[in-house]
Amino acid sequence: MPEFTEQEILENSSRMGLDTRFKFCCGPSVECFNRCCGDVAILLSPYDVLRLKNALHMDSSEFLEKYTLSMRSRDKHIPAVFLRMDDETRRCPFVTESGCAVYNHRPWACRMYPLGMAEPKGPNAAAQRFYFLVQEELCQGHRAANEHSVREWIAAQKLDDFDRMQAPFLELMSHPGWEGPEPLSQQKLDMCFMSLYDLDRFRRFISETRFLDLFEVDEARIEAIAEDDEELLDFAFDWLAFSLFHEKRMKLRRPLPANPAAASEVEAMSNLPG
Ligand code: SF4
Ligand code: SF4
Repeated sequence: MPEFTEQEILENSSRMGLDTRFKFCCGPSVECFNRCCGDVAILLSPYDVLRLKNALHMDSSEFLEKYTLSMRSRDKHIPAVFLRMDDETRRCPFVTESGCAVYNHRPWACRMYPLGMAEPKGPNAAAQRFYFLVQEELCQGHRAANEHSVREWIAAQKLDDFDRMQAPFLELMSHPGWEGPEPLSQQKLDMCFMSLYDLDRFRRFISETRFLDLFEVDEARIEAIAEDDEELLDFAFDWLAFSLFHEKRMKLRRPLPANPAAASEVEAMSNLPG
């Protein structure tokens, strides 16, 4: 897959709107079938990880260990998770002779291909979102006569759930708190990684520590996060906005400052991934 920087995309890409049309076709009949599913950097969102680990009936820690590579962005040290290609063949672990073994749960980037999406940083970024076409030499799909609008492509790839869960994630990742004078501590970054990607561990952290003694969470939400990973991820966004950036999206059961021991317990809770 060709490589480019965010800046190059913003400056050089031919910008496509939802009604822009492009020609593309992919499927078992193309000569290059499956060739694109190897040696490729596929960034996984928390929702991608959620979908894949559930499709494979795996615990999140086990899935992350077996199928992903975890990194930190060089500048802000934000945790990032990539699909791990096979060490020897450099192929995606899910590609088979007949196609993608996790097709119904494949990641956002695989669904969108050959489209990419970008938005400039700053206020009102979502309103300035645009799409661009990724054209690789090996991909013969661009030679097809089948024409689609960007809007039609997105609808056909069933991206609604991905986009719904992506919005609060992007909001968290573009929080101005990442730009603070002091980088976030290693412990806070570990907490961030666990809450976003290692959901089964995050669930145990909530239920097996004093978390629910310290924070007021209504009963219906406690039940929902115990059973439903999407609810748990939604809760993680509130928790991280509170624990990383002190936003008032969690409520303490008791006021803090009078009791330094309790204050330090909450601070420790925000830091330690259980
Ligand atoms: S997840 Fe599926 S579509 Fe995506 S690279 Fe792997 S095999 Fe290909
Ligand atoms: S290289 Fe392009 S046309 Fe070929 S299988 Fe991949 S996406 Fe489809």
